[in-house]
Amino acid sequence: MSISELAVRFFEQQQGLSLAIGALFGTLFGSFLNVVIVRLPQLLEDTEDNTESTAGTSVAAQFSKWLLISPPSHCPGCSHRLAWYENVPLLSYLALAGKCSACRTAISLRYPMVEALTGALALLALWRFGFTAGAAIGFGLACLLLVIAFIDAELMTIPDMLTLPAIWVGLAASAIGGPVTADRAILGAVCGYGILALINAVYLILTHRQGIGRGDWKLAAVIGAWLGLQGLIGSLIVAFLTGSLVGLAMMLFFSRDRRSAVPFGPFLACGGIIAIFFGQGLANWYLGLIIGP
Ligand SMILES: [Zn+2]
Repeated sequence: MSISELAVRFFEQQQGLSLAIGALFGTLFGSFLNVVIVRLPQLLEDTEDNTESTAGTSVAAQFSKWLLISPPSHCPGCSHRLAWYENVPLLSYLALAGKCSACRTAISLRYPMVEALTGALALLALWRFGFTAGAAIGFGLACLLLVIAFIDAELMTIPDMLTLPAIWVGLAASAIGGPVTADRAILGAVCGYGILALINAVYLILTHRQGIGRGDWKLAAVIGAWLGLQGLIGSLIVAFLTGSLVGLAMMLFFSRDRRSAVPFGPFLACGGIIAIFFGQGLANWYLGLIIGP
């Protein structure tokens, strides 16, 4: 019996234990995603700003910088370097009561949030797809969307480095037996980019302001390339519904004026994650609304 067969058998016989291991792996992977969320935008900015500054550094140093593993984890307030026990997902945040042990600077709530969410995504992937390649693909795509959501929420930008490769890989995967067939993936990617570009054009003509940024068009193309037209439509519905609800709530409770920009990426990413795990149900529910039960 091969190792993969053993793993599948273990998963079938020890479901509870397997899900617990999956959730644990997910929270650990979440700490890595935190690093990506903080360092990738900085890294991209550095490379754009001063190309000469890397001239003196060794290849190994540059490589470890690109792998996002250097410098080691530290407090952004006082540069206190984190001991291993201060770097345990979720537990360290609770044990430190959300403050740096050296300078008492508040640690961003984003760290435990991303760790908990990634753990939940791993659990969701195993629960929905079992111990299969589909679970790995679903989890990977959901993690990408999670990273994009947090970067866009903080910086109001979505790095091309995250969206463009995901579009091409998604299209290529569809050609060799990915989650959707090639015709659906191509249609999904083109429509994702096209629909949002069109909405933005209409918005621009009517209000003379940009509504939905280019980063969002590419993000929609990623979702279309991986989930097809059906998954894309489901994601867009969730995104527009949640986006307008939150926008409305902000105007009502925080008296933010209508013009202050709210990034669309987090809502679109949220729609994409829901479409990955509940796509079929979402499509049925929506069709039920139109056609009737
Ligand atoms: Zn500190």
